[in-house]
Amino acid sequence: MPKAYLTIDDSPSERTDDLVDFLADRKIPALLFVRGVHLQENPKAIERAIGKGLVIGNHSFAHKPAGEMEPQEWCDDFELCEHLIEAAYARCEIARPGKYYRFPYIDRGDGKKIEQIDAASVGENNKTSILQQYLKDQGCTQPFNNMPPEYRSDAADCLYTFTARDWMLNDKHRGHQPLKTMDDLKSRINSDEGLKTHEHAHVLLLHDQPDIFDEVCALIDYFAEKDFEFLAY
Ligand SMILES: [Zn+2]
Repeated sequence: MPKAYLTIDDSPSERTDDLVDFLADRKIPALLFVRGVHLQENPKAIERAIGKGLVIGNHSFAHKPAGEMEPQEWCDDFELCEHLIEAAYARCEIARPGKYYRFPYIDRGDGKKIEQIDAASVGENNKTSILQQYLKDQGCTQPFNNMPPEYRSDAADCLYTFTARDWMLNDKHRGHQPLKTMDDLKSRINSDEGLKTHEHAHVLLLHDQPDIFDEVCALIDYFAEKDFEFLAY
């Protein structure tokens, strides 16, 4: 049975309550990486998600690519989102399980927007090292266990092993990207060699965006139909 951690980026949205109910109905654990701007506008949805047992991670405040920010600006942005997450857990009176961070666009500071995780794409330079050290100093860790070798388990930020590219079907991108239909997304899941292994856990990346809510739920159900077991955090 393949095992996977479900991660969902860009929360909260106007459909977060529905997404949380969908996951709760199926008893699927998930880590929601929140955008601080969205959390500030809609804290109730994230407090409700925390109450239902979902884990909240930091996906920056302004969702700008780190490669386009000075280190200090990037640190300030990280902290803005951190304060909002801390406050949400405090209001719920639930202990935060850990600090987890995912870079917007998986731009870790070098301007690369990683679409495929491998040694060539996940490199280090002076700036990525500064940001990694900062995250470590802040106590950011990995929430995933039993990851494949190409996953950087020594990193302080959260990567992924399979991105569903669900965003290609949102209102902004639909029809203008290589994947245009649900069938396209599903056949990519079927043909991905990495997803076929049962030896390591997978980290799936999907999105909380209102215009692809139905598609995201259908994809999660599709993984479940294919016998993926969703791992708890
Ligand atoms: Zn994002």
